[in-house]
Amino acid sequence: MMNFNENDIRTEAGFDEHFHDECGVVGVYAPGKEDIARSVYFGLHALQHRGQESAGIAANKAGKIQYYKEMGLVQEVFNDEIIERLQGDIAIGHVRYSTAGESHAVNAMPLVVYSKGGSIALAHNGNLVNANILRDELQDSGFFFQTTIDSEVIAALIARHIRENSLEDSIIKTLKIVKGAYALVITSGEKLIGVRDPNGIRPLCIGKTSDGFILSSESCIFSLLGARLIRDVEPGEMVVIEGGELKSVKYDKTAKKAGCAFEFVYFSRPDSDIDGRNVYLARKECGKTLAKECPVEADMVISVPDSGTVAAIGYAEASGIPYGDGLIKNRYVGRTFIQPDQRMRELSVRLKLSVLSENVKGKRIVMIDDSVVRGTTSGKIVKLLKDAGAKEVHLRVASPPVTDPCFFGIDTPDKKKLIAADHSVEEICKMTGADSLGYLSVQGLLDAVRLGDNNVCVACFNGEYPMELPELGRKFE
Ligand code: AMP
Repeated sequence: MMNFNENDIRTEAGFDEHFHDECGVVGVYAPGKEDIARSVYFGLHALQHRGQESAGIAANKAGKIQYYKEMGLVQEVFNDEIIERLQGDIAIGHVRYSTAGESHAVNAMPLVVYSKGGSIALAHNGNLVNANILRDELQDSGFFFQTTIDSEVIAALIARHIRENSLEDSIIKTLKIVKGAYALVITSGEKLIGVRDPNGIRPLCIGKTSDGFILSSESCIFSLLGARLIRDVEPGEMVVIEGGELKSVKYDKTAKKAGCAFEFVYFSRPDSDIDGRNVYLARKECGKTLAKECPVEADMVISVPDSGTVAAIGYAEASGIPYGDGLIKNRYVGRTFIQPDQRMRELSVRLKLSVLSENVKGKRIVMIDDSVVRGTTSGKIVKLLKDAGAKEVHLRVASPPVTDPCFFGIDTPDKKKLIAADHSVEEICKMTGADSLGYLSVQGLLDAVRLGDNNVCVACFNGEYPMELPELGRKFE
């Protein structure tokens, strides 16, 4: 086992009380194939939108795990030398974006633990809702934690159970204890394992290559890696890939699907399919429905690039109002949320977007954004457009008002910071300075997602969480 970060100075963990991450995970199974870490590297590149804070790869050669993880974008973290040293038949990778407090390399993934059953590497997307409780219990029983992330609770429980059980049984025993959202890729021994929580909140899908399998948060990586999507991991399912075969274990037969609607609204790439629904088509339908639900007379539909663009095309198509460019995005500035601090978030709107004055001057504009969370972004853009001479700016949001926080891995913050939690649509309209404001309905979103109304988590839009939240009072202490 080798950790290439031997010379790093690590800050002590314990500063980030809260567990919340937006992440992407990849696992590649290709025994005998050279350069497996490079495949994971390319996969992580294609999942970079899911997390820009840290990146890591763990490669497993006959049970011996080498890993490298660091703060930064995938291309900043890895170079040829590192990738070439990560040899193995199986490799997993992770990109992470934590949303509160400071972020440190110590919390980067994959996590590697050394159990009685051998080394285990684990990468997790999602949030547990009982991690603090479990962590307290484990600490009381003498367990030391190296990180402040909930994923280590999963790793610790697996390692603890493995004394008396096989790896698969240890994972299943752990999954009976942890609650929340998790898409996991795990490697140990000669296995690559994928797990999706009983509600299937976060996505995880399976790709097939000529010489093996790929597990990924999103299917958009498959064409790049010469794989084809075979299916999604089912809610409450564990898939075990070993000896060139994929075996399915339904570890929770009461599994009740509640896939995250926000993956379709904002988070996933449009060229991904989640649970059989293409993200681009869902987003476009959101825009079309929005045009029917919230029509307005205008000269041009523009989008807040890039996340509002597909819905804006749908809005333009359904309304008959021509689509045009109004905002130019600097592609080299990260997502607005990349800086968790409010001052930076405000500045980064200006760093990221500028107005095409010639195209908006004197026009009545419909501006489509995929979502309004805190309300910071839209108000600033409305002002940019008006300052550039737009006659009217009508804000249309291709998702419902975000009224409640997410406890399952999307950065929708404390209720107090959500503009729609305690403001009416009219009030928000006034606050943003828009001439009118319209949101997509919850039903409109469910219809666009097309996974069945009861199979989708829309808790951030209606407060109806798919499970109990034992740490509700603790999240924003
Ligand atoms: P806000 O200023 O908080 O209203 O930000 C809304 C903007 O942030 C929208 O344009 C979205 O594209 C983007 N956004 C929404 N949700 C998230 C999220 N969970 N993480 C990062 N960006 C987001």
